[in-house]
Amino acid sequence: MKAAVIKEWGKPLVIEDVPIPTIGPGEVLVKINVSGVCHTDLHIWKADWAGAKAIQEATGVRIIGHEGAGVVKEVGPGTTLISPGERVAIGWYNYVCGVCEYCMQGLPHWCPNAKYTTLHVPGTFAEYTKVHERVAIKIPDGIKDEEAGPAACGGGTSYGAVRKLITIAHLPPRKWVAVIGAAGGLGHIAVQVAKAFGYKVVGVDLEPKRVEFVEKLGVDLAVDATKPEEAIKLIKEKTGGGVHAAVVETPAIGGYDLAIKILRPVGYMVVVGCPGDAEGPIPITPFINVVTGIRIIPSMVAMPYEYKEFFDLILEGKVKYHIEAIEPLENLNKIFKELEERAYVGRKCVKP
Ligand SMILES: [Zn+2]
Ligand SMILES: [Zn+2]
Repeated sequence: MKAAVIKEWGKPLVIEDVPIPTIGPGEVLVKINVSGVCHTDLHIWKADWAGAKAIQEATGVRIIGHEGAGVVKEVGPGTTLISPGERVAIGWYNYVCGVCEYCMQGLPHWCPNAKYTTLHVPGTFAEYTKVHERVAIKIPDGIKDEEAGPAACGGGTSYGAVRKLITIAHLPPRKWVAVIGAAGGLGHIAVQVAKAFGYKVVGVDLEPKRVEFVEKLGVDLAVDATKPEEAIKLIKEKTGGGVHAAVVETPAIGGYDLAIKILRPVGYMVVVGCPGDAEGPIPITPFINVVTGIRIIPSMVAMPYEYKEFFDLILEGKVKYHIEAIEPLENLNKIFKELEERAYVGRKCVKP
């Protein structure tokens, strides 16, 4: 099968013919129709995160991509939840055990036995990818593959992050929520989910053309943070003293710095976007944390019950995906460059 393969970290991916994955008990083989391109792919390709690279060095997996959607071609022995011919999406989680203390608490994100698509199991920038039935995301009728693929990571991640404002922060509707990195593949979804939940939304991004796109998403305030001091002043003025919560979607540490400065006291910062290790930690000292009362909520991808809710929002027309383009797999190196330069808004997909 055709796949985009990392030969050297950060060097152009090479399109190669590789064996189709073999499936074991409970696993399903998916013929990938489209795969979204996530900023995480860029980080992993460049080996920006030491932890991720260490796993890949051990497993030898060099095919990335974790926003695939397609059709189940084959199922392994003992598979009971999924049948051949069903449409599924594949996200970051490729396997969770279902029986450890985290899985049993409904927090399989921290399953110590978890396997990740891209790190442990070859990813979706390929004609076929396998996934365990437990974490295969069933695609409802009415959801297109180019929505379901990007939903498997970016969309679900954004939904899961904003959802925590209700389940963890107990933040009522009509409060101000800032989405930082609002024009991106994750951010443009977070903005719409926050609006659907009844929040007043500040969409923050860089450069006029991206902010224009954010305006069209129905935000209450769109802000260009190219000049951060001006942006902070404007947001504080318009929100009457700062936002109640900031969802940081951008994988840049500057986004966290901005969030800390626009939050009102005892506000919530939801941590989503992961910059490369070289950018350093979230810039908040214990002193600043204590005096501002900022509460930090980490949020990692989504789980099957959240995808169902998220797909409902799309089906109800409350969230619309912006798919900038679906391009051939061969264009992946070009797309990585564009993504790095923030050259497009929303999501791009590739077709293997
Ligand atoms: Zn587990
Ligand atoms: Zn991702």
